[in-house]
Amino acid sequence: EEDVPHVFVVMGASGDLAKKKIYPTLWWIFRDRLLPENTIFVGYARSNLTISDLREKCTPFVVAKPEEQERLEQFWNINYYVKGSYDARRDFELLNQEMTKLGGNKANRIFYLALPPSVFEPVTSNIRACCMAGNGAWTRVIIEKPFGRDAASSEKLSRHLAGLFKEEELYRIDHYLGKEMVQNLMALRFGNRIFGPTWNRDNIASVFISFKEPFGTQGRGGYFDDFGIIRDVMQNHLLQILCLVSMERPSSTSADDIRDEKVKVLKSIASIDLPDVVLGQYVAADDAQPNTDAALGYLDDPTVPAGSNTPTYAMAVLRIHNERWEGVPFILRCGKALNERKAEVRVQYRDVSGDIFKGQSKRNELVVRVQPGEAIYCKVNNKTPGMSFGIEETELDLTYNSRYSHAKLPDAYERLILDVFCGSQMHFVRTDELAEAWRIFTPLLHKIDEGGVQPIPYKYGSRGPERADQMLAENNFKYYGSYKWTDPRKS
Ligand code: NAP
Ligand code: NAP
Repeated sequence: EEDVPHVFVVMGASGDLAKKKIYPTLWWIFRDRLLPENTIFVGYARSNLTISDLREKCTPFVVAKPEEQERLEQFWNINYYVKGSYDARRDFELLNQEMTKLGGNKANRIFYLALPPSVFEPVTSNIRACCMAGNGAWTRVIIEKPFGRDAASSEKLSRHLAGLFKEEELYRIDHYLGKEMVQNLMALRFGNRIFGPTWNRDNIASVFISFKEPFGTQGRGGYFDDFGIIRDVMQNHLLQILCLVSMERPSSTSADDIRDEKVKVLKSIASIDLPDVVLGQYVAADDAQPNTDAALGYLDDPTVPAGSNTPTYAMAVLRIHNERWEGVPFILRCGKALNERKAEVRVQYRDVSGDIFKGQSKRNELVVRVQPGEAIYCKVNNKTPGMSFGIEETELDLTYNSRYSHAKLPDAYERLILDVFCGSQMHFVRTDELAEAWRIFTPLLHKIDEGGVQPIPYKYGSRGPERADQMLAENNFKYYGSYKWTDPRKS
């Protein structure tokens, strides 16, 4: 295995994702010597580019410290570029010849589709027809979202792919699955006795999974408008987190045992509809300085179609109809142009029964903060230290910055690309899982697409529409407003 050559192909090498994310990631894992020895990289796109053009494009993103310069030269020395179209078989035959020339006829091959979805079908057909590895070597294909835009279009793409590749050759990326704290959810739940027995409807009141971004579309609204926040964040990233929080214990940590459990829990979730959601669209902030991002509402972005009803904010309540979760609301919330950047999970426990503290005790809440600043903390009631016998809220706190101050947490794409080299599909989305995810959101998405639904305006930099706090309260998520935290590292 050690010496088997690998060819990694970036389809759409001239594009935005390639320069901002894929080439930098390839550089990091090459720099850190995490890749198999004989790996080479081939970029493919229609643009007429040389490697030095490509290098130039990547310069702001592929950066090396002075002591890494030599390594960076080595990196670009094993990069190649092939120009070709996406629909002409002849071009893929030439790509195949080039790959064989560069990597030999026994190389494993990885194709990363950093392309607009409009060309996914011809490109994958051509890869299958002309570019599969031979002589016992494997071929793996990495696909980026969007995987369709509703149940039907996603199924069409899945069928197309299934006609070309085996499931074990397909790697659908959801980069949230590459994040440290998302991967940690399984360890936390299934590696600790203290959480397992309380992880159910008898003890948990509600679960709140949230993603907030402090900026708007920044001029890329044209792209966003076609999808909206539900397709962009909720149907994939947040739903994946929901699966990891709610699924049953898999029978092992193998990729398929885990994905079987995810599918099972998804099947227990009913499709959602308008009464289950709050939708919002941001407008300019009142106090915004002229010419700042905050002075522009979503509809002021010139690339957004006039009068668009695309939501930039969504809260949705999902219900899992199984023995463990019946009656426990799972609240998903995501939004752009909000007051902060944050992604987290809040597992809120029920009230203590038989209260002897005159209503002073607050609910326990386990918070898993995915970003920024990985942390797990649990709000607990504690005797006020000193003479008093009263109680107050405090926390058990595991902040990664302090506890693991020297740990280097790799970027999500680094882990995921290495997983593809290793053949680990644990953190990739399986076809049946994707179909269930679309089933849940499609009826709602169609109603929004039909144009009859108006999102609630909310101010840039706010917490979103007020109606959402009401929805939280109606769904057994209690906000007390009394919890105070002082950062021990600052006091
Ligand atoms: P992009 O820059 O628009 O496209 C990548 C390359 O594809 C372009 O350089 C262009 O190369 C070719 N291309 C563009 N439009 C085309 C068209 N209409 N027909 C045929 N070829 C076309 O896209 P991207 O932003 O890199 O995104 C690539 C994929 O990753 C998409 O599926 C996107 O949804 C997904 N994604 C992107 C990001 C991101 O941050 N950019 C994040 C998450 C997911 P040539 O003209 O040289 O052939
Ligand atoms: P909190 O202030 O009690 O907030 C709990 C939740 O209620 C959040 O999701 C919050 O904000 C939401 N909320 C805020 N106002 C609301 C309202 N009017 N109605 C309904 N919900 C409302 O507790 P916290 O956010 O867990 O902690 C407070 C601060 O301490 C945070 O900045 C936290 O990062 C920090 N802290 C850090 C650590 C650590 O780093 N290890 C540990 C403990 C606490 P959104 O809805 O806006 O998201």
